[in-house]
Amino acid sequence: MTKLFEGKKGLILGVANDRSIAWAVAKEIMDNGGVCGFSHLPDKADDDKKKNRRRVANCVEAYPSQTAFLEPLDVQSDEQIAEFMKMAGEKLGKIDFLLHSIAFADRNDLQRDTVETSREGFKLAMDISVYSLMSVTNAARPYFNPGATVLTMTYFGGEKCVPGYNVMGICKAALDSTVKYLAYDLGPQGFRVNAVSAGPLKTLAGSAAGVGEMQAFYNYVAPLGRCVTHEEVGKAGSYLLSDYSSGITGEILHVDSGYNIMGSPGRLLHELKQQAAS
Ligand code: NAP
Repeated sequence: MTKLFEGKKGLILGVANDRSIAWAVAKEIMDNGGVCGFSHLPDKADDDKKKNRRRVANCVEAYPSQTAFLEPLDVQSDEQIAEFMKMAGEKLGKIDFLLHSIAFADRNDLQRDTVETSREGFKLAMDISVYSLMSVTNAARPYFNPGATVLTMTYFGGEKCVPGYNVMGICKAALDSTVKYLAYDLGPQGFRVNAVSAGPLKTLAGSAAGVGEMQAFYNYVAPLGRCVTHEEVGKAGSYLLSDYSSGITGEILHVDSGYNIMGSPGRLLHELKQQAAS
């Protein structure tokens, strides 16, 4: 039987380590026959150990025949984006999918009230977490195969106020909107743009945004009474990057145990009532 990604090639941007959401998606793709080219954040010139490259290399070494390349990319640089896409075109020919799983905000800005966000911190967070989706998509476009598809990763904190998520919530609101405008722009060429809105997962970026406390909350509030797993997010993400979702674009798919549908604290209310009664 032909595997879902047999003959498909694409780019995975945003693997930091084996806990990264991008890695969960990439594994699904490669386990289903796809070939991926990966980026890593460039290492500092004086870092002899090349820590950033090593962290991603440790992941991809289990898939030697399905890893097309591992090359540096800082999405803050237009020059690096152009070079990366040119290299990807040379090594892969055409591209069927592009995963953008990148976000960053200064820890100081995440820790202070949103109203006190610094101008520089706001620009930095928006540049890396939002603008980069536009810039990498635009630079990758010339290499897209017919039916190519783009996926980014968002979070509920862009739809509703999630205290602690702060400036990143504003970035995710902008990212959600960017998905829709890009979907409209690229639709006539047959290209799709979607997002997965993942429930809280323990990753490097997730820890900075305080996912630990949110995970405990999901156990009470989410309809499924638990958090999602990396594997579940990986499977849903790979679905949106596959031909199985060929009729879907501009969509924000919640993979969050149903948390987003709730209009009250759900089973937490029951718990609080029991505590009050005892
Ligand atoms: P992660 O493993 O830390 O991934 C974030 C990635 O962004 C890292 O690979 C990081 O590289 C990269 N990055 C940061 N600045 C960059 C730059 N200037 N150029 C290129 N790459 C850059 O954390 P994650 O949780 O998987 O995050 C992936 C995406 O999922 C993010 O958009 C995040 O907001 C979103 N998301 C996460 C959760 C969650 O609970 N974890 C929930 C919903 C959505 P370095 O680590 O090398 O700096």
